[in-house]
Amino acid sequence: MPKTITEQNLRLLVDTLLKEGARVVAPKQAGTMALYEPLKSGDELALGALPRRSAKETFFPLCETILTFEKDKGGVRVNDVDPASFPETVLLCARPCDAAAPSILDAVFSWDYNDEFYLERRRKTTIIGLACTTADDACFCTAVGLSPADTRGSDLFLTPLEGGGYAAQAVTDKGKELLEKRAQFFSDAGSAKPLPPAEPAGESLDLEKIKSWLDNNFENPLWTEIADRCAGCGACAFLCPACHCFDIVDEGTEAKGARRKSWDACGFAKFTNHASGHNPRDMQNKRYRNRIMHKFKYYGDKFGQTLCTGCGRCIRACPVGIDIKAVLDEINSK
Ligand code: SF4
Ligand code: SF4
Repeated sequence: MPKTITEQNLRLLVDTLLKEGARVVAPKQAGTMALYEPLKSGDELALGALPRRSAKETFFPLCETILTFEKDKGGVRVNDVDPASFPETVLLCARPCDAAAPSILDAVFSWDYNDEFYLERRRKTTIIGLACTTADDACFCTAVGLSPADTRGSDLFLTPLEGGGYAAQAVTDKGKELLEKRAQFFSDAGSAKPLPPAEPAGESLDLEKIKSWLDNNFENPLWTEIADRCAGCGACAFLCPACHCFDIVDEGTEAKGARRKSWDACGFAKFTNHASGHNPRDMQNKRYRNRIMHKFKYYGDKFGQTLCTGCGRCIRACPVGIDIKAVLDEINSK
C-alpha cells in the first residue's frame, strides 16, 4: 500500500530519531544559504531548499581525525579513531543528484583499499531522497542519465504532493524497514496527486560519444581554451557530490598531534607535486583536463560509471564562469 507523510509528521519523525540518539542530516538554513547539516530539531528542516554544498560530507567529512599520537616515557602512544563509534544517521531530503552520488562513490572507496571511515558511515546511513519540482539554469541531471524524480541511491523516496505532504516510496529494504518501524508517522495514500517533477533545461549528452572523444584527445587545443580561465580555486571539487580526492597529513608537534584526512582537489597547483619538485600537471589546463577526464573517462574505464550527477553546483560557483555543461556540449558536438 503506497504511503504518505505530512510536513508536520516529517518534522516529528526528525524529533523522534534525534531523541533516540540518531544523527539526522538535512537541508538547514545557515545565514543566506541552505546547507546539509546535522539538525537539532525537526523545526530546523528547510524543506524545499537546494543546499549550497552537496551531501557528501555525511559520509566523507571535509576534515576528520583518523588517529591521534602522543609521546610518553614508553615511546609513542597511538589512538586510532574507531569507525564503529560513528552514529546511526538519516540523511533526509537529499536531492536525487546528491542521493545518487554515494552509490557512485562506493566503488572507489572499496576498490584497492576498504576505507572504513567512509564505508561504516555508508552502512549506518539511511538516505531519504526528495524529488525536485523546480530546477534552475545550472541543473542538468537529465543530461547525465538521472532525473529530478530519480530514486537511485535513496532507501526511501519522497515526492511532494499537490496540497502539501509527500508520497513515501520504499526503494530498498532499509527504506522498507524505516516505513514499518515508524508507521505512526505515515498514512495510507489518498487521492492527492504528485507535483510534476522539475524539467532541467538543455540537451541530453551522449556520454559514450564524449568518452570516445576523450579517449582520443588527451592533447587538444580545447584544454588550453577552457583552462586558461581556470583560477585553480578548487570550489568546483569541494562543492561536487562526486569529487572525492583527499590528502592525509600529520598535524601538531613531534610530541603530540593528530593525523587528519582532508579534502583535496585536482585543480590545486600542488595536487600532483612530487617530493622531487617535479609536477606532471604543471599547467592549469592539464589540471582542468584531468577534472573532465576523471569524471567522463577514467572513472568509466575503471568502474563503468560517470562521476557527475548533473547537480550544477560547479557551474553556479565557478568564479570565472566555466560551465561544465557547456564544455560537455562542445565535446558532444564534435
Ligand atoms: S561535476 Fe559539477 S555538475 Fe557534475 S556532479 Fe560535480 S558539481 Fe555537480
Ligand atoms: S571553480 Fe572554476 S576556477 Fe575554480 S577550479 Fe573549478 S573550474 Fe577552475
